[in-house]
Amino acid sequence: MELSQLDGIGKTRLQALHAAGIDSLRELLYAVPVSYKDLSRPLTVAEVQPGASACLCLNRRSEARLSRHGRLSRVTCTFADETGQITACWFNQPWMRDHLNNALRLTLYGRVEAYGGRKQLQNPSVEHELCIVPTYRPIEGLPQRVHRSIVAQALQQVEALCPETLSDAVRARYGLWPWSRAIRALHAPQSMDEAKQAGRRFAFEQMLLYQAAVRSMRTWRGQAPAIASDAAALEAYWASLPFAPTAAQQRTLAQIACDMAQNRAMARMVQGDVGSGKTAVAMGAMLLCAQAGYQCALMAPTDILARQHYRDMRPYFEERGLGCGLLVSGMPAAQRRQALENLRNGTWRVIVGTHALIGKGVVYDRLALCITDEQHRFGVTQRTALMQKGSDGRRAPHLLVMSATPIPRSLALVMFGDLDLSLIDELPPGRTPVTTRIVPDERRADLYAFVRREAQAGRQAFVVCPLATEGEGELKSARAYAQELAAGPLKGLRVGLTYGAQPQAEKEAALDAFAQGKTQVLVSTTVVEVGINVPNATLMIVEDAQRYGLAQLHQLRGRVGRGSLQSWCFLLTQPNDRLRALAATNDGFEVARADLEQRGPGELLGTRQHGEALMPGGAAAYGDLPLLYAAAECARELEGDPARAEEWREVSRRATALVERLSERVSIS
Ligand code: ADP
Ligand code: MG
Repeated sequence: MELSQLDGIGKTRLQALHAAGIDSLRELLYAVPVSYKDLSRPLTVAEVQPGASACLCLNRRSEARLSRHGRLSRVTCTFADETGQITACWFNQPWMRDHLNNALRLTLYGRVEAYGGRKQLQNPSVEHELCIVPTYRPIEGLPQRVHRSIVAQALQQVEALCPETLSDAVRARYGLWPWSRAIRALHAPQSMDEAKQAGRRFAFEQMLLYQAAVRSMRTWRGQAPAIASDAAALEAYWASLPFAPTAAQQRTLAQIACDMAQNRAMARMVQGDVGSGKTAVAMGAMLLCAQAGYQCALMAPTDILARQHYRDMRPYFEERGLGCGLLVSGMPAAQRRQALENLRNGTWRVIVGTHALIGKGVVYDRLALCITDEQHRFGVTQRTALMQKGSDGRRAPHLLVMSATPIPRSLALVMFGDLDLSLIDELPPGRTPVTTRIVPDERRADLYAFVRREAQAGRQAFVVCPLATEGEGELKSARAYAQELAAGPLKGLRVGLTYGAQPQAEKEAALDAFAQGKTQVLVSTTVVEVGINVPNATLMIVEDAQRYGLAQLHQLRGRVGRGSLQSWCFLLTQPNDRLRALAATNDGFEVARADLEQRGPGELLGTRQHGEALMPGGAAAYGDLPLLYAAAECARELEGDPARAEEWREVSRRATALVERLSERVSIS
């Protein structure tokens, strides 16, 4: 059976499915729900909690009333069950009044808010069947209702569609459901627990494939250009910097130089806490590479960071006759064309950029070294994409991954088993540890007074504004917040603003102004999280601090304390144990361990964002540490057991195919 044969699918909807990357029944089933509406267990008014969604079976207690305010309308109505009363309101759905008044008993599903001390349902839906309703990632041109109906039809074909992909032995050993039962339960669970069990099967499978990919990367490692260097070259490099290297920096660069001297591609991760001086190590590797006549590329996760590296590095390389350029997305067409030309013809030996570096149409000339900065979040597919980009079919570039998140060793082995590890385990001398304070709302005024005093003394402050949704909301709230500060508590200070979606030129101007001390306070979203280096900034203020993972807060805190000045990090929120743990230590490893215990590996690895899921529901794998380790153990055993060589080959084959498919997608995005 094909997609086009499903009831409800005509030409237009078929195109909508294709556009969403769904070309077969199997792919339709693999696009599992992103969430569920649980109508299977209605709650009572007494049980529901503000802030969560809930289903309630209610009796209507009042006539529904319609009020209008200009073009807006609002329907309100009071309901009750045996435990109490709750109101509900609907905005801009005037027809709800008659709909409600025609019924006495209704089942409502919606978000519960606290409204004037009472519970209120806002824009709830009226439900008729008490079951669990899946919600799919929205596909333009395909209503959820139709999506559910075609999935139901596809589920009838499940037996024919699905070869089981895990052996009986593996499923039995780890208590995993068969493919068909699991996929059925993901789309049409009888209970939320069933959906969880089903998700667990695919999460395991995902991790098993990931492990297979990691293991094959390790044994594969292509040919790479050997870049010879000697101790004198390293000495000369360190001598060219304005500071003396730490022993850890020297050791790490020596390891890298040694790797690059081989004609087998380096694959090394450098872990070092924020401020440990990873950039200088990377620059040394880049210099060796460029001086040997090859190209090298440094890829940063954000535009801001890429520009900063570019600004810092360009004079250094150009002084030595080595062309250095920047490639980010959203550059003016003419500029981009010139940049691509400089890359292709080798005018640039050193390239700094963002994801644009692995974009379409980017062609390198003798690329021999790829460095990713702060990219512990990169998964194996992105690593592969990067390697493929620089490879000419015979030779691949050396790969260096730099990470400020000190990932505990056991987890690093599982996630980055294909990489060798260097640790920069000491900070440059003369740093004063950052003092961290948790500041509840009542103490805000004191904090602002402190910011003013510091500013008068010539220091600068970062302020990370309250969280808003991405996109337009991000801009509006960040700007409003900055204006509020500049007009109110920080009046008279020069306040700058930057955020993720800011136009390039503005962003550059904002950062330059702050770096040069022209602005005293930089309000931003978490785009300043990684890598930004302004040694004169001594204050980091984080609004809504309770919402962030500890590792992320540690990163933010790492933006200050970069010089010899005493620095502070203020977390604006009510104190809790988690944040107290952060305030008590400046050691990134301690912080990472606490984060791992409290929020799971997904938080630490940032996998939630990069969403590298090879399987339906597989992203959950990153959130479940025991499952992750179980899958790693399973891969180890399969690989090591000659009696199961066939099974291992099959797993590896699937892993390679999936990674390749995903890498294609990564490289064109
Ligand atoms: P990170 O490891 O967080 O990327 P950076 O490379 O940005 O850290 O370095 C932080 C700051 O420390 C920079 O201003 C850099 O110039 C400085 N730095 C790096 N290494 C040393 C050193 N050995 N001695 C003194 N300062 C150093
Ligand atoms: Mg850095």
